[in-house]
Amino acid sequence: MFLNKNRIIRFLEDNRGLVVVLFCLPASFLFDLCFRIQNAIRRRFCSAPHKHEERVDAICNQVKKRNKLPSFLKKPLCTSRPNWLSLSTTFFQKNKCDKISIPLYDILHLDEQRMVVKVEPMVSVGDMVSYLVPRGYTLAVTLEIGDATCGGLALAVGMTTYSHKVGLYQEAVESFDIVLSDGSLIHVTRNNEHKDLFYCLPWSHGTLGFLVALELKIIPVKPYVHMRYIPVKGQKAYCDKLRKLSGALDKEALMPDYLEATVYSREEAVIMVGNFADVKSTNDKKLINHVARWYKPWFYKHVENFLHLGEGEEFIPLGDYLLRHNRSIFWVVESMIPFGNHPVFRYFLGWLCPPKPAFLKFSTTPGIRAMTFTKQVFQDIVLPMTVLEKSIDVAESLFDTYPVLIYPCRIYNHGEHMGQLRPPRPDQMCPNGNYGMFYDLGVYGVPGKVKRRERYDAVEAMRAMEKFIRDSGGYSFLYADIFMTSEEFNEMFDLTLYNQCREKYKAEDAFPHLYEKVRPEVDVFAIGKAHAN
Ligand SMILES: Cc1cc2nc3c(=O)[nH]c(=O)nc-3n(C[C@H](O)[C@H](O)[C@H](O)COP(=O)(O)OP(=O)(O)OC[C@H]3O[C@@H](n4cnc5c(N)ncnc54)[C@H](O)[C@@H]3O)c2cc1C
Repeated sequence: MFLNKNRIIRFLEDNRGLVVVLFCLPASFLFDLCFRIQNAIRRRFCSAPHKHEERVDAICNQVKKRNKLPSFLKKPLCTSRPNWLSLSTTFFQKNKCDKISIPLYDILHLDEQRMVVKVEPMVSVGDMVSYLVPRGYTLAVTLEIGDATCGGLALAVGMTTYSHKVGLYQEAVESFDIVLSDGSLIHVTRNNEHKDLFYCLPWSHGTLGFLVALELKIIPVKPYVHMRYIPVKGQKAYCDKLRKLSGALDKEALMPDYLEATVYSREEAVIMVGNFADVKSTNDKKLINHVARWYKPWFYKHVENFLHLGEGEEFIPLGDYLLRHNRSIFWVVESMIPFGNHPVFRYFLGWLCPPKPAFLKFSTTPGIRAMTFTKQVFQDIVLPMTVLEKSIDVAESLFDTYPVLIYPCRIYNHGEHMGQLRPPRPDQMCPNGNYGMFYDLGVYGVPGKVKRRERYDAVEAMRAMEKFIRDSGGYSFLYADIFMTSEEFNEMFDLTLYNQCREKYKAEDAFPHLYEKVRPEVDVFAIGKAHAN
């Protein structure tokens, strides 16, 4: 019996692509279709920006009503959004909370004078791209995943290939409207009486209050991005080039609009330099590439070609550029469908991709949940540019999986207003600038040892990575599994102002603490140990 079960598991693992294509993709497609229909109905019949205040009043009343419960019946507060809809890889136990419904999906107002757009928190990145790009704008900081929400990004963290110019998503937030634990509504900006809260809301994961609206900075755009693909051999060479292009060494340096690198091996990377462009001449029109269409090669595979072809250029329509990594979820889909980039698959079934993250989460069993961190690695990490080379070496020695993503990003020195982050260390600062150049190191995939069926201890590897992050003055993105004790978490994040805000805004007894909210809901140590053999 045991043998049979193992053989079945082995068979499913060996034929994972087929299982995903035959069962997962069609089910995910139907699942997605239901959501699209639900969203279309909501947009067509329920969208009512003018009723925003009414909806917020109803949320305040829900909280006030819950507060009337006797204390022994009260549980910590959280939103009622099902866990599987969130992009986070963890499953926060909402059943242990009093859930407040936040049905806020409308884009409220575009202010072209102030260059901000006011939105409700559940508006998705995909909605924003469809709304802003035809009007000649985009969010100053966005994400390449259409399903991410504006509110989720603001209360967690977001960064993109424009972040070397403007910093993290939180730098692009102009104001938050927050419902506190007593059911009152406050408007929070970086200059008003709630400025302490303004700096603590990012990275707070909804543990200080409920977000009911936010204003986000937008930037003017052109219809195309002129992309230059620069293949670079030699680790020092591509790291130096990234530091130069990103403005890490000189705040006056001419920076491209968009900048990223995909590292294909320790010694090989392609740096992508994008600038907004119009396409007028016939010659330029020949260089247009709709990279996000279903039949096109996965973007990172397309980029890899330039390692052999040499430097190249093309014009990418902005909408395609912004969602270029969406179909292959960076390179995550490759481990699910190894033949997914084959032209035959792309032409006939490419439109089914990507498998919906919400569906994948919805259908997660305890066994699959264990696999998400014992047989795979899924981490975004903020690190200073000073450790770029070292971080690639450390990631290789611990996980041995490529490609690796690098998005340079400013971390501003806001002095005492850093929220949960710490001011960049002096050696990490850009000379004469008010920021340090950091980057998102994205490591997604199946670790080399797992591929080779060697012993892989996920907990040991992740804890070693987290130690490297803490020693370097970096931060783990908290949407992914963390393996830190609460003391280590306190070392990575500065929770002084956060704890003061929890007390001042009466969140202490009402919302879970940040560490409790983001730590994995399963015993990763026990599961990791059991799977390491
Ligand atoms: C494949 C993949 C790739 C990614 N790549 C990147 C990347 O390149 N760059 C990057 O920056 N990030 C990246 N991320 C992470 C992503 O930014 C986060 O998951 C982010 O939190 C957005 O997800 P979400 O909208 O599902 O937010 P959620 O997970 O729903 O929300 C984040 C937190 O805020 C809370 N919350 C949400 N809305 C409210 C509200 N209205 N009131 C109170 N609390 C609320 C939630 O409970 C949760 O704790 C990636 C994630 C995935 C899965």
